[in-house]
Amino acid sequence: RIVFLNGSFLPIDEAKVPFMDRGFMFGDGVYEGIGVLNGRLVDNEAHLERLERSLKEIQIPNPYSRAEWTRLEEELVRRNNMTEGFVYFQVTRGVAERDFFFPTDARPTVAMFTQAKSIANAPAAEAGISVITVPDMRWERRDIKSINLLAQVLAKQAAKEAGAQEAWMVQDGYVTEGGSSSAFIVTKAGSIVVRPLSNAILPGITRKSLLQMSREDGIVLEERLFTVNEAYDAAEAFLTSASNFVVPVVRIDGRPVADGKPGPVTKRLRQLYLQMAAGPALA
Ligand code: PLP
Repeated sequence: RIVFLNGSFLPIDEAKVPFMDRGFMFGDGVYEGIGVLNGRLVDNEAHLERLERSLKEIQIPNPYSRAEWTRLEEELVRRNNMTEGFVYFQVTRGVAERDFFFPTDARPTVAMFTQAKSIANAPAAEAGISVITVPDMRWERRDIKSINLLAQVLAKQAAKEAGAQEAWMVQDGYVTEGGSSSAFIVTKAGSIVVRPLSNAILPGITRKSLLQMSREDGIVLEERLFTVNEAYDAAEAFLTSASNFVVPVVRIDGRPVADGKPGPVTKRLRQLYLQMAAGPALA
């Protein structure tokens, strides 16, 4: 398996990050995860745009242009012969003696790897998954894709121990988002409800594409907060993420959503998303 670290492609066992890296010491960095289908990066431009914003918000200079990032991602996908899965990369503030203040002479550390996995034909994505709800214990700048994921590690582990696959985090009675996904419900009238963007959630790239697709498909969108009770009573529920696309949620806290099977709106959106991600049909 080949990874990319600070300018070089090398076998993963040879890729070493220095002990004093601020990513390791402080979680001082940001990351991105981009889906790959048929060997193509899905929505890459939007991910790179979000990366630029995350870096700017924590004042780390972007080490590469969009074209350079894209070339590195594509090269790594090619070197790993990956056709389906995702590309992960992170940028930390670099290596310096441990001190909270920004170092003046550090260069950002850039690490990138690929992970092969089935997205289009994943059984869970066809059958639907279970989620539990947990308190959202994260900081107040969730719009930054920070590598500090301790709250999500604990939330998702709690979900696993409860026999569920994802945790929906809740603040003041309202669902914020999943541990590593955006949360949606579908009302009995057939409209999609999703929390509006703010500092309370990560601006999901899959969320953004899905909303655009839904608009074009004539589905009614309600960008507003929704409560856990509203989710229990919804006609359908689903989540989105770059590494899973659109996944039906069929149980919330052990209660079946409607009849406990993936609903028609979710199935249609998953299909539409898969078509978009697969790229233009070959002539
Ligand atoms: N929300 C959180 C907290 C996430 O970590 C992620 C993805 O990792 C998402 C939402 C989904 O975002 P995207 O669709 O860009 O993968």
